[in-house]
Amino acid sequence: VEREFIHWLQQRLPATSRIQVGIGDDAAVVQVGSCESIVVATDMLMDGVHFDLSTCAAARAGHKALGVNLSDLAAMAATPLAAFVSLALPRDKARDVGRQFIEGMALLSGEYDCPIAGGDTNVWSGPAVVNVAVIGAAGPRGAATRSGARPGDWILVTGAYGGSMLGRHLDVTPRVREARRLHSEYEIHATIDVSDGLAIDLSRVAEASECGAVVKLDEVPIHSDAHEVAQRFANGPSPLEHALGDGEDFELILAVSPEEGRRILSEWSLEVPIARVGEFVQEIGLWSEDASGKRTPLSPAGFEHK
Ligand SMILES: [Mg+2]
Repeated sequence: VEREFIHWLQQRLPATSRIQVGIGDDAAVVQVGSCESIVVATDMLMDGVHFDLSTCAAARAGHKALGVNLSDLAAMAATPLAAFVSLALPRDKARDVGRQFIEGMALLSGEYDCPIAGGDTNVWSGPAVVNVAVIGAAGPRGAATRSGARPGDWILVTGAYGGSMLGRHLDVTPRVREARRLHSEYEIHATIDVSDGLAIDLSRVAEASECGAVVKLDEVPIHSDAHEVAQRFANGPSPLEHALGDGEDFELILAVSPEEGRRILSEWSLEVPIARVGEFVQEIGLWSEDASGKRTPLSPAGFEHK
């Protein structure tokens, strides 16, 4: 539904000259003066869908609500400026849940220097809903987008993938510092943050860039959580399948030229590792490549085992 609705919105609400990047990327880019741009992202999370207050503290859900938005700013290589929080709270425990949501956001807000500058609170008989909007400043090279990958570019990824449902999907660590550093020191052609899954989000970069992508399967960094989940369900997906399909890793996928890729891999010194997992190619589509170099079409949704 969302994909179809986004396509409709893109037609119905086309970008104007002030809106440099409109609907369909990780965040919008609005030109402020003649050279500066602000980056805007918003995300709504609902109890029972994105978190479950019967098993998860509201503070942890609050952390996630701000974290996923900061992750979208990271995808644009933007510096967070402020957050705006709107809450719909269940009538019977509005005060408690509301305060916990904000407490969960406060730590992250401080850590990323993204003050909560406003918002709205309503009470109703439905479940808790939290919407966060963030604004950020684009770097000197402008905002990073999904659409700049070129055939021959390397696919680099931060971190490791899979099994986030064990808890990492709530404890989001947005890659804001990593993105800013990469974007200021290197020429990055395209980025996206991995919310829906490594394979599907990579396919989105390829689609926006009008090229294809090949994933080298034995180079995909598999998180220990992916191994743990695979072990729990003997006949379920493999750790690699979890890594490609689970989503909510909130890591970054980057497109860079081979020269920049070599520089990044040899110079990178931040704690979060960066790995090369494949390359963008001319031919439209998504493929996996095994150790022998054999390519097989890879369905972006083929790893959705939900
Ligand atoms: Mg995103």
